Amino acid sequence: MLKAETLAIGTELVSGQSLDTNSQWLARELGAIGIPVLFHQTVCDQLEENVSALRIAAGRAGLVVLTGGLGPTQDDLTRDALAAYAGVPLREDPASLEAIRAMFARRNRPMADRNRVQALFPEGAEPLPNRVGTAPGIWMEHGTATFACLPGIPSEMRVMFHEQVLPRLRARGLGTRSIVYRKINTFGRGESDVEAMAPDLIARDRVPEVGITAHEATISFRIRGEGETPEEAFAQTEPTAAIIRERFGDLILGEGSDDLPEAVFAELRRTGATLASAESCTGGLVAQMITSMAGVSPYFLGGVISYANSAKTSLLGVPAELLATHGAVSPEVAEAMAAGARVRFGADIAVSTTGVAGPAGGTPEKPVGLVYLGLSTADGTWSKRLDIGPEQPRDIIQRRAAKNALNWIRLTLRGRPPG
Ligand code: ATP
Ligand code: MG
Repeated sequence: MLKAETLAIGTELVSGQSLDTNSQWLARELGAIGIPVLFHQTVCDQLEENVSALRIAAGRAGLVVLTGGLGPTQDDLTRDALAAYAGVPLREDPASLEAIRAMFARRNRPMADRNRVQALFPEGAEPLPNRVGTAPGIWMEHGTATFACLPGIPSEMRVMFHEQVLPRLRARGLGTRSIVYRKINTFGRGESDVEAMAPDLIARDRVPEVGITAHEATISFRIRGEGETPEEAFAQTEPTAAIIRERFGDLILGEGSDDLPEAVFAELRRTGATLASAESCTGGLVAQMITSMAGVSPYFLGGVISYANSAKTSLLGVPAELLATHGAVSPEVAEAMAAGARVRFGADIAVSTTGVAGPAGGTPEKPVGLVYLGLSTADGTWSKRLDIGPEQPRDIIQRRAAKNALNWIRLTLRGRPPG
């Protein structure tokens, strides 16, 4: 099977001034047509290093896709490096020179002498026309490897990949498979719990392959499907997706980019329930996440950011004695906040957050990362304790708390008893 390697050229990349995003993009595109990328190399703008990078890449990959170093300046060395690596001279390509001249003429700019080097190609290489910039790319087959050199500018690189590289791969019968990744998102269990519930699915060499990734406590399954067509690749994932849906049930938020806001919105639409929020430690994040959904206004009535104790009393009616007796971070206050918000907004369901977001303010009894959520419906009012952990930074504690609040709403709307 053909294996590929990306080679990103640029001192600004290896020195850390800018990030090599071309390789990420190329690896995804190649992966999607069944050509796995096994290595990414990044190298500075120096001839010797470029030649050595080419040698290394050609030793382990059948297809090497290079980006950058095709410009007209002294430090653009890709064509020289390729010629040096292959042991061939550079030759001028009249058609490419004409195309570069025409490009400058169209832009009403004089062509600098330096631009002539962009019409030079290693002997035996094929120029890749560049419709969107001045630098033509290079296609060259040498030994067991094929080299495709593309401009460094990401927009140019993408066009050239689609218009020049893909057709050449297809003409050789390469990259004709379809690979899809399907992402199913869950919330409510940790990564290791989810893994322990799916040992059969994540077994190595399973077809289709399943991986687990985590992002802000949302744990996702990634199913890889392969086939002749995108439809066939998708069909291959379906039995596995069905197993995951069946086994993980209520833990599942949705697919693709669907996270808690999308899942809560779906439940609000399904049930027609109205919602309100009362937030302390999350500072409005719950309301922000909900209102990030366009079209949520019939369901989300509003929220209160009651950060100070006095605001909890004046805006939500939390009794001052309750705050004095139990402290703001307590189950009692969380419940009073939720109940107060529900009554004042006239909502069917209300949620609240109160906790210690840190980094200061933790005590042995109420450490940083301790959060109480409150939930109130016509049937009653409940609270729930979260221990997010004193080692977590403030923003993580806030986001976790907000996501857990949304998840509690979601599950309640799905009919789970809140208590
Ligand atoms: P040009 O003809 O414009 O000179 P080039 O092929 O010589 O193109 P570079 O000069 O190496 O390309 O890069 C041009 C710009 O493209 C860089 O300044 C950088 O912003 C961006 N770039 C280059 N390589 C990458 C990469 N691997 N990932 C993301 N951006 C890149
Ligand atoms: Mg460069």
